[in-house]
Amino acid sequence: MSLYKHILLAVDLSEESNQLIGKVRQMAENCQAELSLVHVIEPLSFAYGGDVPMDLTAIQDQLDEHAHSKMETYSKALNYPVKEKLVVSGHTETEIHRIADEQNCDLVVVGSHGRHGLALLLGSTANGVLHGAHCDVLAVRVKEQAE
Ligand code: AMP
Repeated sequence: MSLYKHILLAVDLSEESNQLIGKVRQMAENCQAELSLVHVIEPLSFAYGGDVPMDLTAIQDQLDEHAHSKMETYSKALNYPVKEKLVVSGHTETEIHRIADEQNCDLVVVGSHGRHGLALLLGSTANGVLHGAHCDVLAVRVKEQAE
């Protein structure tokens, strides 16, 4: 029996996400697991605390388009069958939990910077995903890259 049946890889579209690809492919291969990708777009209005006095639809659409194209790139780099490439909108950790539940994933893989000091106190996405997940969460250490 394989250890994991459906792995969900959460990608933030940064160059750092490429560091997760090799490990996830190997894990999926070893477990003969299904593999899905998710990226969460936080609505721009979240960043501005609610009402924004302008129409953000065009920008939001561009973000969506960019995310879909990056998902294709990751998918090719994985060189492994990808079941679902999901681009969803909302709060990152909440959406990753929701998708993992909906897709019956038994492992979520996220990158982790291993921050310390103030950044650690403020929390990270990896930490947020770990708390409240109904399945295993693997935090893969990534090295910060200059944007
Ligand atoms: P952070 O703590 O925000 O630097 O993110 C660490 C990891 O969380 C990334 O490597 C991704 O695995 C995941 N992550 C962060 N933001 C997102 C996002 N918007 N959508 C999906 N996964 C994300």
